[in-house]
Amino acid sequence: MKILFNQPKRENDELSLEINAAIKNVLESGIYILGNNVTTFEEEFAAYCNAKYCYTVGNGTDALEIALRALDIGESDEVITVANAGGYSTTACNLVGATPVYIDVDENRLLLNVDQISSAVSPKTKCVIATHLYGQAVDIKQLRAALDAARHTEVKILEDCAQAHGATSHGKKVGALGDIATFSFYPTKNLGALGDGGAITTSCDNLAERCKSLRQYGWTSKYCSTVSDGQNSRLDEIQAAILRVKLKQLDAYNQRRQEICAHLHESCQGIVDVVTTPCDDHVSHLFVVRNKNREKICKTLNANGIATDIHYPILDLDQQSMKNKSYRSLELTYSNQATQEIFSLPCYTGITSVELDHIRQIFQSKISEITKDQ
Ligand SMILES: *Cc1c(COP(=O)(O)O)cnc(C)c1O
Repeated sequence: MKILFNQPKRENDELSLEINAAIKNVLESGIYILGNNVTTFEEEFAAYCNAKYCYTVGNGTDALEIALRALDIGESDEVITVANAGGYSTTACNLVGATPVYIDVDENRLLLNVDQISSAVSPKTKCVIATHLYGQAVDIKQLRAALDAARHTEVKILEDCAQAHGATSHGKKVGALGDIATFSFYPTKNLGALGDGGAITTSCDNLAERCKSLRQYGWTSKYCSTVSDGQNSRLDEIQAAILRVKLKQLDAYNQRRQEICAHLHESCQGIVDVVTTPCDDHVSHLFVVRNKNREKICKTLNANGIATDIHYPILDLDQQSMKNKSYRSLELTYSNQATQEIFSLPCYTGITSVELDHIRQIFQSKISEITKDQ
């Protein structure tokens, strides 16, 4: 048996009739950019997140960059973020010229540690990027309270929801918990297109207006550029039409992911430590576990046909590309520790129960053998 780490094709094959019809409609309409599918998807996705506005863009990294520009963040500004979330927020900071300031994550869930906010803020702090990592929501209410307590009420909160479409915190969906939020529709995300795509949600009139201009040359009307540092980053009609089909399935997809997470948790509980333990408000984008014997475990899993991956192996500040960049960092004890131990197991809507049973069987025989003396 060969179990791939990701297989969005299975999910998309199930909807092939509807997806084909959606693509055909675009072909027949003759409208390819910023047409009815984009506008309607933006309305539907804003409603899904309980945000007032949604503007779609080319991908999740553009969404982060445009959101930072909408917040007027640039040179000499600081952005607080974490170093263990794949480098996307760092890339966006570099693009706008802002300085990332890294704080540590909490020991268990590996999410931004709100308790470190007060040690990280400075007069230059303009924004905190809170990444809802692995499908788990950062407690934005608590983050806001920490900023207010540190007398930094003006610091904005940007939620990076690229791994958490539909996740909730205190019963409310991510994407409308901070000042502005970004999403990616990369094919393997919880809501995935058949190509690149991204979106920004906000309930602030002014930020929405700026994002709408920034994604299209800084225009406020055709050929009239009023906002500086605009770019061209748009979702196309075909991807929007496909995302409209798939948005209707998102809650069902997330529920399926939660079932898979529960199954995997049962399979490897007590054998390795589970980071992404099942709970109602996280949407199981990734299933992440940890063990000191990672290398041997992954080798055994791979030899038995089970693909694994590491999210993520290198902290942002340790990347070679950061050598000549400026940043600040607190002590990253838990972030560092995690990079040595974490690995991820296949967790996607298309995985079959036969495949899940195979993973269970390998864990309970060969992997438990490796970890039993620890
Ligand atoms: C995937 C991802 C992004 C970037 O999205 P792209 O569409 O690939 O640019 C940003 N942040 C996080 C946390 C992601 O997982």
